[in-house]
Amino acid sequence: MATYQYRCAECGPFDVRRPIGEARPEEPCDGCGHRSRRVFTSPMLTRTPAALAQALRAQEAGAYEPRVVGEVPAARRGPAPSADPRHALLPKP
Ligand SMILES: [Zn+2]
Repeated sequence: MATYQYRCAECGPFDVRRPIGEARPEEPCDGCGHRSRRVFTSPMLTRTPAALAQALRAQEAGAYEPRVVGEVPAARRGPAPSADPRHALLPKP
């Protein structure tokens, strides 16, 4: 379904919902019943939300040019090694 806009000379603009491609050049006004001409407006296209668009661009770029890192990111590094020499003698996991 699509929403088509018409303008009544007496009552002003009003909307009519019909299947896509089945808009009539004139429709009777909801308020007074006069024949009203269709008004051509820009289509109501919804934009992709910014966060989703960024994720889609990153996904597409990663498919062709995966990012290569040279070191572990700071957020994923473990705690700094201990300065106490006795800790070096402990068994390793
Ligand atoms: Zn009217």
